[in-house]
Amino acid sequence: MKFIVIGGGPAGCAAAYTLGKEGHQVSLFEASDCVGGRTKQLKRDGFNLATGALFLMGGIYPRTSALLKEMGCDKQPIPWGGASELMDKDDARYPVSFVSLSSYLRIPVMTVADKVKVVMTAIKLHLSQGAKNPFDGSDLARYDRGENLEDWSRKNLGTRAYEYMIRPLMDFLYAVPASWLSTPFPLAIIQQAHKMRLSVPPEGVGQVSSWFVQHSQGLRLHLSAPVVRVEKTASGFSVHAAGEVHEADGLVVATEAFVAAELLKELISAETARKLNGTPYTNYAHVAIAYEKNPWPDYPVDLVLPVGAGETRNVGAIVLHSRRNPSSVPAGGEVAGVYFNTPPLPDMSDEDIKQEALDMVARAFGKAPQPSFVHLFRYDRGLTIAKPGHYSTLDSVHAEMPFGVFLAGDYFSQAGVEAAVFSGERAANALHDALNR
Ligand SMILES: Cc1cc2nc3c(=O)[nH]c(=O)nc-3n(C[C@H](O)[C@H](O)[C@H](O)COP(=O)(O)OP(=O)(O)OC[C@H]3O[C@@H](n4cnc5c(N)ncnc54)[C@H](O)[C@@H]3O)c2cc1C
Repeated sequence: MKFIVIGGGPAGCAAAYTLGKEGHQVSLFEASDCVGGRTKQLKRDGFNLATGALFLMGGIYPRTSALLKEMGCDKQPIPWGGASELMDKDDARYPVSFVSLSSYLRIPVMTVADKVKVVMTAIKLHLSQGAKNPFDGSDLARYDRGENLEDWSRKNLGTRAYEYMIRPLMDFLYAVPASWLSTPFPLAIIQQAHKMRLSVPPEGVGQVSSWFVQHSQGLRLHLSAPVVRVEKTASGFSVHAAGEVHEADGLVVATEAFVAAELLKELISAETARKLNGTPYTNYAHVAIAYEKNPWPDYPVDLVLPVGAGETRNVGAIVLHSRRNPSSVPAGGEVAGVYFNTPPLPDMSDEDIKQEALDMVARAFGKAPQPSFVHLFRYDRGLTIAKPGHYSTLDSVHAEMPFGVFLAGDYFSQAGVEAAVFSGERAANALHDALNR
């Protein structure tokens, strides 16, 4: 059969790859001039900058890992240990491993009573039910009690564990206050935290999408071809892109949720469009400060996470990218990446953000000479997050799609490559099953 995939992020590329395996004729339309979506790279002056995603998460990303293995690419991502330190407001430093929750218990601010509380809660969490698949919205919806992560953490872990464990992790991963997040996803990830291993494909996380495309049999890839209209025809659908009309028996729409709502507006109800348009995407900004000559070759950790009880923080993390992905910098170079939290961004100009990034890098790693360049990445809609109620609302959208149309995208769960890949593979399988019944 003839299928069209709209959107070439990891969700759309996984969908195209999966449909190709079933022997279908697949065309993929991507608005940008390369695949990867919010995982793609930007080449500048010999540096290979991550515009968005920074790492894969090993056993926590089972479908991504399985498909990489199937394509023979699983040995290519390079492990990243994520050696980190918490930087307190008085500049005290506490070494931790980003991927080991128990390492946070060793920091001196945690009292014996704090540690006992965390360990008891961890045991209870392991013995309790939770979403088995943190990337499946229907599984997550079953465990959504309407509670937010800050309230859950303060109640179950105590204030210091919230401030020195949950806040720094969530600031780096989602850049929003924990009070904006629903609990089922983070709790399911904590239950599986022992499987977490960070790794980075040599060309950056965007390479995952390139691998899907390279291994998609007979894929017709249309780059710089934004889809502007989708219509129902007597036998299927017509898709308008780059001044041409393309016919298909079925579609996977793997764009951001608000784009899907716009493209499908003639085919879905106003209520379904409202649900898609209601998907929260947060403001996001990060700054890449590039140096031809690494000013901190011997700095003991790769990642600094600002902390401080009760403190409002504009920056969630500062990363030495040569450690995360050695091929992202020219030999002997370094990029310090400064990742901002969402709340201050509406009140900050581009210049404010760049200046604060430079100040934070000096505070984290020590003064450095003039950088080669400072590159700001700023998005009105950066990361998808899930507030209480999100999963059931979005999950209900699947059943409201017209026959032959399936949606994919990270927004059914919470931002992350696995959420996208899982949803893309699922949409492709559902499309194949529906039209081959
Ligand atoms: C700063 C940042 C850091 C991140 N860090 C990580 C990380 O370390 N690890 C991780 O796992 N995840 C990370 N993520 C999240 C990850 O990037 C996303 O979850 C993932 O890219 C979502 O994939 P997707 O395919 O659903 O959507 P997208 O990647 O957004 O892809 C959607 C695609 O649709 C295309 N499109 C839109 N409109 C049209 C149209 N009309 N026609 C055709 N194409 C269209 C877009 O151009 C885009 O390529 C990060 C994200 C950001 C922003």
